[in-house]
Amino acid sequence: MGIVVQKYGGSSVADAAGVKRVAQRIVNTKKAGHQVVVVVSAMGDTTDELIDLANEVAPLPPARELDMLLTAGERISMAVLAMAIATLGHEARSFTGSQAGVITDAAHGKAKIIDVTPSRIQKAIGEGAIAIVAGFQGVSQTTKDITTLGRGGSDTTAVALAVALDADVCEIYSDVDGIFTADPRIEPRARKVPRISYEETLEMAAQGAKILHLRCVEYARRYDMPIHVRSSFSEKEGTWVVKAEDVAQEATMEAAIITGVAHDRSQAKITVVGVPDKPGEAAALFRAVAEAQINIDMIVQNVSAAATGRTDISFTLPSSEGQTAMTALSRIQESIGFESLQYDDSVGKVSIIGAGMSSSPGISARFFEALSEAGVNIEMISTSEIRVSVVVSETQVVDAVNAAHAAFDLGSDEIEAVVYGGTGR
Ligand code: ASP
Ligand code: MG
Repeated sequence: MGIVVQKYGGSSVADAAGVKRVAQRIVNTKKAGHQVVVVVSAMGDTTDELIDLANEVAPLPPARELDMLLTAGERISMAVLAMAIATLGHEARSFTGSQAGVITDAAHGKAKIIDVTPSRIQKAIGEGAIAIVAGFQGVSQTTKDITTLGRGGSDTTAVALAVALDADVCEIYSDVDGIFTADPRIEPRARKVPRISYEETLEMAAQGAKILHLRCVEYARRYDMPIHVRSSFSEKEGTWVVKAEDVAQEATMEAAIITGVAHDRSQAKITVVGVPDKPGEAAALFRAVAEAQINIDMIVQNVSAAATGRTDISFTLPSSEGQTAMTALSRIQESIGFESLQYDDSVGKVSIIGAGMSSSPGISARFFEALSEAGVNIEMISTSEIRVSVVVSETQVVDAVNAAHAAFDLGSDEIEAVVYGGTGR
């Protein structure tokens, strides 16, 4: 008899009917002989609605109070889920993140888990109850205030609890059947990936695939906790996220070189025009951006024009941070002496990801040829050992994904992907 941690996302518990369906599923797992710990997100779009409410009463809500407000969403879902399970004749006890022993640092809105002390959870399951834990929240070790882990953080709560409880598996339930070779919403021929390594999943998540929270995958990799990503709307086997050796073992003779195509429309591009081409200029530019706490992604510096001794530097960043970056750069325009700034948030990033690419040449060439045949213009390129990414115009993101998907034979013959619920908000 092992411990199973199950996490249900907001779309799985969007309304009373969803809560009842999930309750039945949890009870079935219990009846199959497992000790069950459940992590639950806020119902449907509750978190977004709470943020909207906060913004109505205060343009800049204090971070401590915003966290207190947002954790209410998960309190609602954990309590109603426990009630629904009780109706099915099983005991369920709900716990806030703090009660479940999720200890974090004090960074409101983006707290990091520093320890998990789940003694109350262990006691509950030891006594035969099902434990329900509110996702995405904890308590600060130093200030004792309630914190949240950042949007989508319930996945991380689930993996952290699974590790602390030494669970057999962490099951993450959402409204799609697993991790797909591309987002089924824009690539109808997307295929479910049966097994994928932590490293590939990290790249997929970092490049915009919205299936798992990045930090949850980092956590799972660090402690080698297998994650089973699946749908709460079907009984189908989903995608197993495991260590690379375990993927290789299962791989067929014709293992795919590319595992998936990810896309991200939330990027913007800033071009600093006419930067004097002398040592220290790039350093000063990116120091200013870093001091504004902005994470940048790709950087391209053009060859400088001999006549002017000036060059252009472009970089990408989340468009939500675009204004802050532009302001920070404008402030140093005079001291650096660049000519102007250009801002473009109608760009998107498309990436191909696969552990197999490090050992097979010609992958970039095939990717770029496919893009050119589809009439997609590449604005920027970056690579890692297991990824090639391009920045393209936002209007060409879908074409680029479809072209890459076809070029690497990722498509299935039948429509496999079903999107069951969710508003995609
Ligand atoms: N309810 C939170 C959010 O919507 C946490 C989560 O869903 O994981 O971001
Ligand atoms: Mg949510």
